[in-house]
Amino acid sequence: MNILINTLCFFGALAFMEGVAYFAHKYVMHGFGWFLHESHHRPREGLFELNDLYAFIFAIPSIVLIWFGTNGHPWALWMGLGVAGYGAIYFGFHDVIVHRRIHHNWRPKSRYMQRIVHAHRLHHALEEKEGAVSFGFIYAPPVPVLRAEMKAIEAERAATAG
Ligand SMILES: [Zn+2]
Ligand SMILES: [Zn+2]
Repeated sequence: MNILINTLCFFGALAFMEGVAYFAHKYVMHGFGWFLHESHHRPREGLFELNDLYAFIFAIPSIVLIWFGTNGHPWALWMGLGVAGYGAIYFGFHDVIVHRRIHHNWRPKSRYMQRIVHAHRLHHALEEKEGAVSFGFIYAPPVPVLRAEMKAIEAERAATAG
């Protein structure tokens, strides 16, 4: 029974973090937190970018949960590890696979991987705070849906600028 609860806590926290990441990316990073995230929508000079500071911010809930987990609340440990697991997947997907901060020539083969990589490239089609699409990381709508969304945003801009 404990294994079941621990597994649920782990994967529940991991999946929940995709939602947190989506909303944080859309409303915080492309909102008042743009001053840090902007560095990620520009060519990087050097090894690091200001946007990397978000990794420390997102590590806080994981550290707090793991602390509670090792101090009398075992379920919190697995949630904390789930949050950390999301961080590891995010880093592997976003920083290594898409942005190649570690050199490699691997190309995604599965449809799912191709879709989320392509979706994140579309997120980077603009270097601006406003008008971006695809804010998630391990889930993304199909590419044609995102392209349609981009067209709609463009059309709306043209109409309001006119
Ligand atoms: Zn962004
Ligand atoms: Zn990116």
